[in-house]
Amino acid sequence: MVGYLLGFLLGALAIGYLLMQRGRGDVRSPFSAVKGWGKLIVSAAAVLALTGMSLAQETAKAASELSARYEELTSPDFIQAVAKSGGTCIIPVGILEKHGPHLPLGTDLLDCRELSFRAAAKEYTIVFPQYYFGQIFEAKHQPGTIAYSVHLMLDMLQETCDELARNGIKKIILVNGHGGNDQFLQYFCQV
Ligand SMILES: [Zn+2]
Repeated sequence: MVGYLLGFLLGALAIGYLLMQRGRGDVRSPFSAVKGWGKLIVSAAAVLALTGMSLAQETAKAASELSARYEELTSPDFIQAVAKSGGTCIIPVGILEKHGPHLPLGTDLLDCRELSFRAAAKEYTIVFPQYYFGQIFEAKHQPGTIAYSVHLMLDMLQETCDELARNGIKKIILVNGHGGNDQFLQYFCQV
């Protein structure tokens, strides 16, 4: 906005100067009227006007392209993201477990993260990085399963939420991608 105003002001000054010169009646074209320091001032004003407008465009572009992916934001971006999202962050909660013989171990998280990104594209929110620390004791015997202890699951989620809150997040949405997390997440929210 400031860039646009600066650009507009300098552009108006340059045009005003040219018109003044033309008004004296001793010139054929506006540009031939400008001599010496006048030419320098007009050139500088034109360059500054263009720079101001281009800066304004860059700023507007950066604001509109703010990533929803927490891990892709810079620290200054994060401040903007918190404001833009109204202090909202989704934590897609998945698991590492067997999904038949044909699907990846991270299928549940891949699915619920994708849904979270689609939601964030409709209404901006921050989406937390890969969170695999759910409940999976029932399938612990399957190759590739990672099953953390109960206290670690609870502490990890609690401290993640606490840290988000410390960073200005006021609304945390737990998007669950794994059936085995249903009771765990309900219990977490109760205690
Ligand atoms: Zn699952």
